[in-house]
Amino acid sequence: MSDEAVNVVENLRLTESNIQSACEKAGRDRSEVTLIAVSKTKPVSLLMDAYNAGIREFGENKVQELVDKYEQMPKDIHWHMIGHLQRNKVKYIVDKAYLIHGVDSYELAQEISKQAVKKNCTANILVEINIGDEETKFGIPYDKVTELVDKIISLPNISVHGLMCIAPNVENPEDNRHFFAKMRQKAVDINLDKGHNIDMSVLSMGMTGDYQVAIEEGATMVRVGTGIFGVRNYRI
Ligand SMILES: *Cc1c(COP(=O)(O)O)cnc(C)c1O
Repeated sequence: MSDEAVNVVENLRLTESNIQSACEKAGRDRSEVTLIAVSKTKPVSLLMDAYNAGIREFGENKVQELVDKYEQMPKDIHWHMIGHLQRNKVKYIVDKAYLIHGVDSYELAQEISKQAVKKNCTANILVEINIGDEETKFGIPYDKVTELVDKIISLPNISVHGLMCIAPNVENPEDNRHFFAKMRQKAVDINLDKGHNIDMSVLSMGMTGDYQVAIEEGATMVRVGTGIFGVRNYRI
């Protein structure tokens, strides 16, 4: 299906209805879950379809693309940097990203802190966990998370708000349920351990294939790309 044939408004309606069902099933309020429209590789015209339908949270995984779209799109958008961030590119987005989801090393956090000090802003971040222990994925090991969070909170101009993961690519979303539950448990553990001094309120987990299960297990941000904008064509 070409980008022109995608009905973003209809896809958003369906996604929204799925989110509401998952919230109801879990006894959660719809306002506890933020839908991030993952627009990577998609043209600004499609992003504007989503914008006009009320979407203000967009996710991109490449620095250059985020910056380009930031320039072209209205200014009341929250841009989420959801991809792996290279240290030498932090300076381009530190004052443009509303939330940086994929922080998985102290060195990256240090660079984010340094650039945020330079730009006189505060960088809001999530720590990424490699929840499925997959060699192909970024993120730090589950049992190293508390230690990393502990180190990051002493850095200036950087603020931790919670955890993020990309769960394994599975056919049956139920297979990821235990990973999402583990994510939430880690956030709870860190809070207990640190006397509630650390904000662990954000759990960014769940994508097109598994966001409903993620919401049932406590996700506060779901990142949906294909389900809104259609399949991606990486050749363009
Ligand atoms: C691409 C991407 C998504 C969206 O994936 P879909 O399966 O298309 O919903 C979510 N999170 C991250 C980190 C991504 O890179």
